[in-house]
Amino acid sequence: MKRKCPDTNCAFPEMVIKDGCFRRKEDSKTIQRFRCKICGRRFSHATFSEAYRHKRRRVNTPLLRLLCSGVSLRRSAILLGVHRKTVERKLPFLARRSSRLNQKYLQRMKGRIHNIQIDDLITKENSKLKPLSVSIAVDEDRRMILALEVSQIPAFGTLATIARKKYGHREDEHLHGLTRLFQKVTPILSPEVVVKSDEHQRYPWYVTAYLPRAKHLTFKSERGSIAGQGELKKVAFDPLFAVNHTCAILRANVNRLIRKTWCTTKDPKRLEDHLEIFIFFYNHRLLKKRSTPL
Ligand SMILES: [Zn+2]
Repeated sequence: MKRKCPDTNCAFPEMVIKDGCFRRKEDSKTIQRFRCKICGRRFSHATFSEAYRHKRRRVNTPLLRLLCSGVSLRRSAILLGVHRKTVERKLPFLARRSSRLNQKYLQRMKGRIHNIQIDDLITKENSKLKPLSVSIAVDEDRRMILALEVSQIPAFGTLATIARKKYGHREDEHLHGLTRLFQKVTPILSPEVVVKSDEHQRYPWYVTAYLPRAKHLTFKSERGSIAGQGELKKVAFDPLFAVNHTCAILRANVNRLIRKTWCTTKDPKRLEDHLEIFIFFYNHRLLKKRSTPL
């Protein structure tokens, strides 16, 4: 593949010649070097790689699989024989790459999505006194995850008073989360899309504002089948099965979302990263292997 000079000020960036090669020790690959005939800048195939200057390229793919299979960050570091900090640094990197691929995939589906389901999944940051809401949109026909948005919400129920006493006022950013979710999915949906959701009072406004020609169907929330498995419903037919089952899959496969676990999210940004990686793995691996996931 012909490369261009990476120097943006170069007058003729195409005037490059091959200039030897080197063996990259980390993955035993031979990398071609180039030299610009105009400005003399030397570069190689590796200069343009996303993993440029990474020292542990080999763990990228196995790490992605482990993180989407219920393994914690620390345990994946032990299993892969790398330092805990390497895994910490790889998480945002894998998320950026997954996000780019997820966007590309969604663009290909543009206008072909006619039925979606939306819901919110509650998780926490450090403590139950600091809850987070994950707004999720799922394609009902293909079961694809279209988008996930994390936003902080104040503690509710009996914990609300204790939370205010301990941590003070906590801003409700759920509206921002829903805005981001709708901004992300609206361009790829068919205008006459059918939106299904529970009776959450905030959804109707967003559906009318972003999808004026859509049909919005709401269903009463049903009781969970077993304690701790609120996503799987105790009814013969669950009209929101696609989104509920996807949430159950998220809880089972993303370690920090499991209920009553040692692992929690310390930084909501990292939860976003983890979920972005999971969307990629779910849409491209789990869904493509079988017609029904898991
Ligand atoms: Zn140049």
